[in-house]
Amino acid sequence: MMKVFLLRFGELFLKGGNKKVFEAALEKDIKKKVEDIPCVFTKTQGRYVISNFEESQTNEIKKRLSRVFGLCSFSLADEVDSSREEIEAFLSKIDLKGKAFKVELKRADKSFPLTSMEYVKILGGVVLDNNPSSSVDLYEPQTTIYVDIRMNKKTYIFTEIIKGQGGLPLATSGKALLLLSGGIDSPVAGYMMAKRGLMLDALHFYSYPYTSEKAKEKVFRLAKKLTNFVGHIKIHAISFTKVQEAIHMNCGEEFMITIMRRIMMRIAERICERDGLGAIVTGESLGQVASQTMQSMMVTNSVVKNLPFFRPCVGMDKEEIVKIAKDIDTFDISIEPYEDCCTVFLPKNPVIKPNLKRVEREESFLNLDELIEDALATEEEILI
Ligand code: ATP
Ligand code: MG
Repeated sequence: MMKVFLLRFGELFLKGGNKKVFEAALEKDIKKKVEDIPCVFTKTQGRYVISNFEESQTNEIKKRLSRVFGLCSFSLADEVDSSREEIEAFLSKIDLKGKAFKVELKRADKSFPLTSMEYVKILGGVVLDNNPSSSVDLYEPQTTIYVDIRMNKKTYIFTEIIKGQGGLPLATSGKALLLLSGGIDSPVAGYMMAKRGLMLDALHFYSYPYTSEKAKEKVFRLAKKLTNFVGHIKIHAISFTKVQEAIHMNCGEEFMITIMRRIMMRIAERICERDGLGAIVTGESLGQVASQTMQSMMVTNSVVKNLPFFRPCVGMDKEEIVKIAKDIDTFDISIEPYEDCCTVFLPKNPVIKPNLKRVEREESFLNLDELIEDALATEEEILI
C-alpha cells in the first residue's frame, strides 16, 4: 500500500478533435508544476497518478495541483493491488469512529471477478464488521469511501475529492497581451483568460516621476502571483509620461482618460502584431467607472482593427472580482496604496458617453505617431 495522488481530467475537452494536444499540454503542465519535488508520474486510462513522494511534501503537491488548468479534480488515495484480499484487508482497517458511511465503487477493470453491484455490498459489510457502531447511509453519508478499480491492476481508495481548476490546459488557446495595472481587476482578468488556455504577456504603463518605482515593482509582484498558474510571464513596461503630458497640454481635460486609453490600445496592438499575440485582455467591468461604459469601450475598441478584446470581468460585480483576487492571492498586493498612471492628471469630470468624432478631433491636436514611437522606445522586457 502507498499514498498517491489520483488526478482526473475534464471529460468534456477530451471529446473534441484536440484530445491528444490537450492531454499532452495537461501532462506537461502537471509535470512542470511538480518538477522540483521528487515523485513519479504515471498515466493510466483516464487518470494520472503521482506517487513515491515524501509524506512531508503532501500539502505542497496538493497546492501545486490546485493550480493546474484543465484538471477536474484529484484525491489523495491509498493504492493497493486489485485483488479482493488487498482491497478488503485495507477496508477492514478503516476506523469510522461511528460515522454513517457509504462505499462508492468504480470498476474500470471489467476483468475484476465481481460486478460493482455485488462487490459494493461485500465491501460495505467488511467496513461494518470493524465499525459496529456505524451505519450505512446511501443518501446523506458522513463519510464516503471511494474504491476505484483501474485498468492498471491497481485500486485507489480515498474519502475526499478535491475540486481542481477546470478550464482548458495551459497554453492550448494561444497567447494574448494582458494590460496589467496595479489594481484588483486586471490580475483577475489575466487569471480568467489563462484558465481558458491562454498564455499571457503583460503590458504595463508607468508614469515616472508621477508614479513611483514602487508602483512598477508592485505590478511585477502581481505578475509573479500569476506565474503560479502560468509558469512565466514576460512584462513589457512602457513609460507613459510623455503621452500623458502631451494629452494634458493639448486636449480637452474631460477627454484625458478616453484618449489615454486609445493610445494604450494602439501601443498594445503594435506589440501584439510584432510579437504574434492574438488578443488584448483588460480588467474592465461594465459601468465601474466613466471609461468603462459601452460608449467608452466602443471608442477605445475602435482604434484596434485586427484583434479581439477579452474583458472577462465585464459582467462581474466588484465583490465577485475581489473573491477571485483573494483566491489567487493577488488581492493583498493590489490594495497596496501606490498610484497607477491612470490617476495622474485625472479630470474632474471625465466624459461618460464620449462621441467618437469629438474624440478624434481632440486627438488631431497630438502627433500620435511620434508619441507612440517614443513610448515604444522606452519599452523594457522583464521575464518573470
Ligand atoms: P484595475 O483594477 O485592473 O486597475 P480599474 O478598475 O482600476 O482596473 P481602470 O484603471 O480604468 O480600471 O483600468 C481599466 C483596465 O485598463 C485595467 O483593468 C487594465 O487592464 C488597463 N490598465 C489600466 N491602467 C493600466 C496601466 N497602468 N498599465 C496597463 N494597463 C492598464
Ligand atoms: Mg486601475
